[in-house]
Amino acid sequence: MSTSPQASEHTETVTESSSTNKRILLAKPRGYCAGVDRAVDTVERVLDKYGPPVYVRKEIVHNQHVVHNLRERGVVFVEDTEEVPEGSLLVFSAHGVSPAVREAAERRNLRTIDATCPLVTKVHKEVNRFARKDYDILLIGHEGHEEVEGTSGESPERVQLVDKPEDVDQVEVRDPSKVVWLSQTTLSVDETMERVEQLQERFPDMQAPPSDDICYATSNRQVAVKAMAAECDLVLVVGSQNSSNSKRLVEVALQSGASSAHLIDYASDVDDSWLEGVETVGVTSGASVPDVLVFQVLDYLQERGWGDVEEVTTANEKVSFALPRELRKDLDENPNNPQGVR
Ligand code: SF4
Repeated sequence: MSTSPQASEHTETVTESSSTNKRILLAKPRGYCAGVDRAVDTVERVLDKYGPPVYVRKEIVHNQHVVHNLRERGVVFVEDTEEVPEGSLLVFSAHGVSPAVREAAERRNLRTIDATCPLVTKVHKEVNRFARKDYDILLIGHEGHEEVEGTSGESPERVQLVDKPEDVDQVEVRDPSKVVWLSQTTLSVDETMERVEQLQERFPDMQAPPSDDICYATSNRQVAVKAMAAECDLVLVVGSQNSSNSKRLVEVALQSGASSAHLIDYASDVDDSWLEGVETVGVTSGASVPDVLVFQVLDYLQERGWGDVEEVTTANEKVSFALPRELRKDLDENPNNPQGVR
């Protein structure tokens, strides 16, 4: 698979001078992607316009700080549509949902707004297209991840999940000439290609996705961390434990030469023993992380003597997505008293 990160290949640096060797490399791009920005904006607008309580199925994005703040403002996060009172307003998270979840919401007469990232929806459509052509679909992804559950749910009888290397041997297809691989959007690009090569040994005629399933934001953040990792004694990735793309950044940093790497939600999670003997600290963040949390980490490091901050830029992202259609429509038609979706 050729990935298509929005990369300008040069690396640019912004430096503040300091007399010590302690420096910080700050990855760019990092943090919020267009899909997360849209999903959080959706919930905030729904809160502003309709008032609490607003129900959201699963965490709107995988970040503790974001979820905590929204909960404080009146969002009720639920695991299942059954927990939502009949007739209430329910937002589907950025990770997407299966048709079965949509049907369950309809049965409860819930009014729904779909904040699924358009790049996840694209993979759902690919599943449907290949299922209609009666292909066996090998979905590379992490078992139990919400996105994978939603994507598989588009055609459970045709999709087989391939997570670990040993899963490749378990795959069974009906016709080896009608097989396609697709993937979760937030995987490690390199590990995914390893899994594809394994699958190709078993199914040489296997088709590739029509376009990259690993999204631009995931690819770009991995390229940026790779560009700086070899220079880093320590890489701090700001992100939550259930954030797939954030966890991949830790792995990519280590595979690309960082001496150590840790995933942290907050600056206060830094263990001072990690900093012993360290000169260069790399800092980046997952696609669901607001930059304020990154700046708190920079402050924490600067209080401990890391003065220089060099921004390592490998791409300038300009992607943005419009709000969900059903929300836009109501805001357009009822700007002063939106009510259509309720
Ligand atoms: S990480 Fe990629 S797929 Fe996920 S919300 Fe962001 S842009 Fe969309």
